[in-house]
Amino acid sequence: MFVLPGDRIGCVEEFEAGEGVYEENGELYANVAGRLIVEGRTVRIEPINKIPKLDKGDVVVGKVIDVKNTVAMVKLTRKIGHDRELARSLIGILHVSNVQNEFLKSINSVIKFGDIVKAEVLDESLKLSTKSKGMGVIKSKCGKCGSELVLDGDKLKCPKCGNVESRKISSDYGKGVL
Ligand SMILES: [Zn+2]
Repeated sequence: MFVLPGDRIGCVEEFEAGEGVYEENGELYANVAGRLIVEGRTVRIEPINKIPKLDKGDVVVGKVIDVKNTVAMVKLTRKIGHDRELARSLIGILHVSNVQNEFLKSINSVIKFGDIVKAEVLDESLKLSTKSKGMGVIKSKCGKCGSELVLDGDKLKCPKCGNVESRKISSDYGKGVL
């Protein structure tokens, strides 16, 4: 059986979500177009178009969905060099020790919720690094008014309210996803 993204597959009482399947409010939906495969209780989708796998050294783009003191969780959306979107379920982990070369006490001071970051994949468990110059925040919004921040020296400035914020800024900031 073929399914399309957004098709309802079942509910969590019937199946466990495998690759290409996501859960929302107890219901399971297809995240990609492909062939539905049921193995025991697990349901997964074999995509028609192969989703790129992530390996050490790959460069990815994602959105920061949670920031704690020592880690930020990044929902990965793209692999640089691929035009296909990544599976919805891929979450990368950026640890405070992998953000920048200089010592950083709290990740919160340079990476904020909602930031779009470019990062290097460190291993298959999707640990990320933004240490090199091109890596870091490429798009960010003002914490006060929500406008898009623009580059101002080594800081980011809000063109609307003048608020100045610190980030680990990528050399590709504001250039769009490259
Ligand atoms: Zn502002």
